[in-house]
Amino acid sequence: MKQHVKRLLELEQLFGVDLLPVSKRAKATAKPVAKKPAEALPPDWVALRDEALRCTKCEELCSTRRQVVFGVGSIAAPLMFVGEAPGEDEDLQGEPFVGRAGQILTATLSKCGVSRAQVYIGNVLKCRPPGNRTPAPREMMNCMPFLLRQITIIKPKLLCVLGNIAAKALLNTTTGITKLRGRYHDFDGTKTFAAYHPAYVLRNMAELGTFEADIRRVCTDAGLAT
Ligand code: URA
Repeated sequence: MKQHVKRLLELEQLFGVDLLPVSKRAKATAKPVAKKPAEALPPDWVALRDEALRCTKCEELCSTRRQVVFGVGSIAAPLMFVGEAPGEDEDLQGEPFVGRAGQILTATLSKCGVSRAQVYIGNVLKCRPPGNRTPAPREMMNCMPFLLRQITIIKPKLLCVLGNIAAKALLNTTTGITKLRGRYHDFDGTKTFAAYHPAYVLRNMAELGTFEADIRRVCTDAGLAT
């Protein structure tokens, strides 16, 4: 508050008279709106992100990517989703699950009263495979350490793998997602729910109800759904 306005307010109180114009008094006495502090990122997270953003381990991916898509959301989230790899929209925008499949995930979360900012969303691969081809085993091996370190830092209460590639990467299984989905599995002591990949749901809209029920369940179990 400006010094002279403060002094006039003090004088008003002292003498019981109105000295300030109404508009100025309203402004001067208004309670400051509490701003949500930006989430402070721990140094190990910042170092991990910088390392991932500079990664050149996969020759083909780093020569064709527009950018590395590290992940999005809160690192204090109780729930972390893991998808496959960025597609074209993600490669353009630098954020996971922002294309058509991503919109299904975002809309489903929103139906549960959950925003993308309340969860963490990442992928097995941080770079887009050209033409959205399936990640090669070598690429998965190169990129997994980043995902594992993300999980170690976030320590989510629950993980949710979306689709076959993420299930294969974290659950060390060759069983298909159709058999795995709708149940919890274990990843290194963290309860890990399996759900269809939203891109599969896009191609098989009859499965939308199943997908929504799965996402609602994991959001509820994480204490997020309303
Ligand atoms: N598919 C994924 O698996 N991840 C994304 O980020 C987008 C589409």
